[in-house]
Amino acid sequence: MPTYAAPLEDIRFLLNDVHDVSQLSKLPGFEEATADVIDAVLTEGARFCEEVLFPLNQPGDAIGCTYENGMVHTPPGFREAYKQYAEGGWTGIAASSEFGGQGLPEAVRFVMEEMLCSANLSFSMYPGLSHGAYNALMSHGSDELKERFLPKLIDGSWAGTMCLTEAHAGTDLGIITTRAVPAGDGAYQISGQKIFISAGEQDLTENILHLVLAKLPDAPSGTKGISMFLVPKFLPTEDGKPGTRNTVTCGSIEHKMGIKGSATCVLNFDNAKGWMVGEAHKGMRAMFVMMNGARLAVGMQGLGLAEVAYQNALSYAKERLQGRSLTGPKNPGAPADPIIVHPDVRKGLMRMKAFNEGMRALAYWVGILIDVEHRHPDAAKREEAVDLVALMTPVIKAFLTDKGFDNTNIALQTLGGHGYIREYGVEQYVRDARIAQIYEGTNAVQALDLVGRKLPMEGGRLVRRFFEMIKSDLERWSTDDQFTDMTKSLGDALYKLQKATMLLAERAFANPDEAGAAATEYLHLMGYTAVGWQWLRMAEVASRKLAEGGDGSDRKFLGAKLKTARFYFSRLLPETATLLTAIQSGAAPIMSMGVEEF
Ligand SMILES: Cc1cc2nc3c(=O)[nH]c(=O)nc-3n(C[C@H](O)[C@H](O)[C@H](O)COP(=O)(O)OP(=O)(O)OC[C@H]3O[C@@H](n4cnc5c(N)ncnc54)[C@H](O)[C@@H]3O)c2cc1C
Repeated sequence: MPTYAAPLEDIRFLLNDVHDVSQLSKLPGFEEATADVIDAVLTEGARFCEEVLFPLNQPGDAIGCTYENGMVHTPPGFREAYKQYAEGGWTGIAASSEFGGQGLPEAVRFVMEEMLCSANLSFSMYPGLSHGAYNALMSHGSDELKERFLPKLIDGSWAGTMCLTEAHAGTDLGIITTRAVPAGDGAYQISGQKIFISAGEQDLTENILHLVLAKLPDAPSGTKGISMFLVPKFLPTEDGKPGTRNTVTCGSIEHKMGIKGSATCVLNFDNAKGWMVGEAHKGMRAMFVMMNGARLAVGMQGLGLAEVAYQNALSYAKERLQGRSLTGPKNPGAPADPIIVHPDVRKGLMRMKAFNEGMRALAYWVGILIDVEHRHPDAAKREEAVDLVALMTPVIKAFLTDKGFDNTNIALQTLGGHGYIREYGVEQYVRDARIAQIYEGTNAVQALDLVGRKLPMEGGRLVRRFFEMIKSDLERWSTDDQFTDMTKSLGDALYKLQKATMLLAERAFANPDEAGAAATEYLHLMGYTAVGWQWLRMAEVASRKLAEGGDGSDRKFLGAKLKTARFYFSRLLPETATLLTAIQSGAAPIMSMGVEEF
C-alpha cells in the first residue's frame, strides 16, 4: 500500500527561510496572513490531505466515475470528503472575503494545491476548476454575476467548469462552432457540443456553473470572435437556489488512462440559457485568466505526483533487499543489501529529489509573486511581478509536468516489477501524471507561448529581468569559495540560455519554423536554469543556517539540502548542453523531409 506524508519540513524551509513568506503580511489586505497563520493553515491542510483524501485515491482509481442516464457518480467517499473540504473553508481559501472567502494569499493555495495533487489528483480537479471559474468571474464578470454566483463558488455548494474543447477544436480554439444567440432579455441561448470537460457533471455539488466559449452570430472568424458565457446546470431562483434545469446535459464520460476519479464529460448545450462574461468577442481574454491560473495549477499536479511517487520509491529502496553493494556488504546480517546501496538506484532517487525540491522552490517563488502582482503598493514591484509570472507560467506548466512525469516513471523503475503492479500504487501515479503534459494547452503549446509571445513581449523586458536576477545572485555568491562550483555551473547554464535567446531572436524573424523547432528545448533550458537558480538560493540558506548551529534533525535536513544542490549542479544542470546543441542545429533537420518521405 502506498503512503504519503506532506513534505512540511521542506515547505517550511522554503516559505520561511528561502522565500520569506512573512513579506505577504505586509501587503494590503493580507495583514493577518502572518507566517504563523500560514503555517497553521498548511499544517491542517496537510492533515486533511493525508488522512481524508489520500485513502480515497487508490480506490478512486480502481472504481472510477460511473455514468448513468446523464448523471455521474464520483468514486465512493468523494462526496463525504468534498463536504468536509467545503465545510472546512478550503473552497474559498484564497477567495475574496467580500464574497465570503478566507482572503488568504494565493501562495497558500499554491502550496495546498501541491499537497492535494499528491494525495488525490482526481479529487483536486473538482475544487481546482471551481477556483479557476471564480478567478475568471472575479476579474471579468459583471457586478450582478459576481454577486449572484461568487458566494456559491466560494462556499463550495456550486462548482465550476471550463468548456473550451470541441471534437474538432482542441489547440485551435479559433475554429469552435458552439453558437450563442441573444435571447432578447440580456441572456443568450448556447448550442453546441463540448468534449473532455473535467467535472462537467458530478454528484458533489447542488449546481454546476459552466464557463463556455462560443461565437455570436456576427462574430469575426478565429479567436478574435470568441465570447465567454456562464451557463448554469440549474438556473438560479430569485433567492439563489438551484431552480429550473437548464438544457445542458452530459452525454457520456470518457474511459481513460488515468485520473479515473475525475469525470471527463461530453456536454451537450441545446439552446441552454447563459450570460455573457466580459465583452463580446473578447472571451479569450476572460478565459485566459482561468487558463493562466489553471496552467500553474497543472504544474503543481506534476510536482505533487512526483513527490508522492518519490516518497514511495524511497521507502521501497530502503527496504527491498537485492544484491550486494559494489563496495562490500552494507547489511551483512541479512541475505542481501537494500537496493538503495546501488549507485543506479540512488541516481534515480537523487534525480527525483533534486528536481522535486528545486521545482517546489521555483513554484512557491511564483506563488508569492502572484500576490505581489495583485497587491503590492509599489507599481514598479507589481510590474516586475507581472512580467515574471507571465514568463514563468509556461515554464511551470510544461517543465514541472514533463519532469514530474519522468519522476513518476523513475519511481516505478525503482520498484522493479512491483512498480508495475497495481497494489503498490506507483503505476497509478505514472498514469495520472501523463495527462498533465496534455491538457491546459499541450506542453508543445506552452513552449510556443514562451518563445513566440513571452520572449518578444515588452521588447524582451520579461526575459531580461529574469536574467538580471540570476546574474545579480551569481555576482553575490561567486566570491564565496563554498559556492564556486555551483555558481560556475549556473553561470554556464545562464550563458547557454542567453545564447539560445539571441539565436532565436536572430533566426525566428526570418523563419518562424526556427522558433517552433527550438521551442521545447528552449523551455527546458529555461526550466533547468530557473531550478538551478533556486538551488543556489537554497544552498546559500542551508549553508548559512548550518553555520548558525541548529539541532540534529535540522542539521540532517540542511546537510541533505547542500548535497542535493551539489548533485543538481554536477549531474543535472549539465544536461543543458544537449538542449543548446539541439537548438543550434536549427529547423532544417526537422523540416527538410517532405511529408511523403516519412
Ligand atoms: C482528461 C482530460 C481532461 C480535459 N479537461 C478539459 C476541460 O476541463 N476543459 C476543456 O475545454 N478541455 C479539456 N481537455 C481537453 C484538452 O485541453 C485538449 O485535449 C488539449 O488542449 C489538446 O487538444 P487536442 O486533444 O484536440 O489535441 P490537438 O490540438 O489535436 O493536438 C494534437 C497534437 O498536435 C500538437 N499541436 C496542435 N497544434 C499545434 C501547433 N499549433 N503547434 C505545435 N503543435 C501543435 C499538440 O501539441 C498535440 O501533440 C481535457 C482533455 C483530457 C484528455
